[in-house]
Amino acid sequence: MSDEKTEIPNDFNELMRDTSDEPHLEVSETAAHQDWQDEDPVLRCNRCGKPIDAQHAILTPIGYRCKECVRGQQKVFDTSKALDPVIAFFIAALVAFAGSWLVAPLGFIIILVASGLGLLIYNLTRLALKRRRGTKIDLAILFGALIGASPLLVHLVLQMVSAKSINVGGGVGKLIWYIVYVALVAASAYAQSRGARK
Ligand SMILES: [Zn+2]
Repeated sequence: MSDEKTEIPNDFNELMRDTSDEPHLEVSETAAHQDWQDEDPVLRCNRCGKPIDAQHAILTPIGYRCKECVRGQQKVFDTSKALDPVIAFFIAALVAFAGSWLVAPLGFIIILVASGLGLLIYNLTRLALKRRRGTKIDLAILFGALIGASPLLVHLVLQMVSAKSINVGGGVGKLIWYIVYVALVAASAYAQSRGARK
């Protein structure tokens, strides 16, 4: 009598257990596993072998890679040494400063010359740094060009301020070309340097 009474609730409990945790989990796991293997867009990172879904896979020239590996790879591309930014800064500053003396005689033609000087800065830096590259070098070129190109502009502004007139040292016309030159030579050199890394 007591056996029957205990057996019935036992069966009942087992029935309840069946529908609850373990088997359910197993089913969903195998389903997920099958999804993973059967559906075709299963990509694997070709560096670490991690499965990646199509949304997160990044196609590189050497195959699909996961975000983490791509980040690691990008770090490898930064080949700059400690002194490189300093060298790049001085090259950019010197060329930009030399070029700024052309602003007064050239006028609007400086627009063309400034981009050429930007390219020159990039090529000289690349030569001096044996083609090493990196974000710090890009920024050093940007700030070097900005600072190197600025003294004559600053000089003109100070002249205007001390004379309390904009009609000295070539006037507003000169002022505008100085500003254009500073912006263009720095933007051009920076764009060349950054573009080369992509
Ligand atoms: Zn990976």
